[in-house]
Amino acid sequence: MSTAFSDEEISAVKTRYPGLKRTGSGTVEGTLEMDAVYDGKPLKDSFQVRITATNPNSSRVPALYEIGGRTEVIAEKLGLTDLRTLHRNKDGTVCVCVKQIEKRKFPPSSDLFVFVEELAVPYLYGLVHYEHHRIWPWGDYSHGSMGLLEFYAEDTTPQTVEDIAEVLPSMRKDLNWKEYHKQLRKPSAERSCLCGSGKPFRVCHKKAWQGLLHLRSEMLRLGLDFSSLFDGIKK
Ligand SMILES: [Zn+2]
Repeated sequence: MSTAFSDEEISAVKTRYPGLKRTGSGTVEGTLEMDAVYDGKPLKDSFQVRITATNPNSSRVPALYEIGGRTEVIAEKLGLTDLRTLHRNKDGTVCVCVKQIEKRKFPPSSDLFVFVEELAVPYLYGLVHYEHHRIWPWGDYSHGSMGLLEFYAEDTTPQTVEDIAEVLPSMRKDLNWKEYHKQLRKPSAERSCLCGSGKPFRVCHKKAWQGLLHLRSEMLRLGLDFSSLFDGIKK
């Protein structure tokens, strides 16, 4: 991923979103006039955003920040105490999609326009939808590592070593990574859930439990070594 946006990228984005301006070599900022349709339902809205070429949470996609205070207003209106429910990270970035989808939505050499159209606008659409209906318009994954596991419960596309090597570092950042590691080595449906609720894993976060089993079977098929997961992925 480049750390700067090219002039061509900026002008392509400004053609459709004239309220966005370059404020640094790798930063655009301003008003994004959203006018999107999903599943036959049009939504129009306006957001103050910042998009940066570098992303603290991804080496693949740019970072999106909603900087107009809208996320906080929605959280307050809905009585949400944790902004992560709206997929806002502590560092202010938002999770525009689950890690495993990044490559599909934003293939290598994608430009800023692709990011805005395929990831930023859909996220903002989802946010407004959530504000009105308390549900994301498409399936939702839990925030963070649990969501990465839930993904594997539904998507059973054969994984490559590279796919898994891209996902595990994010999982390793989880405070509860030791438990993830234990579960990957020797799964137990009855051990307390990875979310820390104390309930059995298979009862509390059923989809994540199923996803863990699928991820594990893929890792076994690929011959990945579970004992070295702490250091990095090795064959
Ligand atoms: Zn749980």
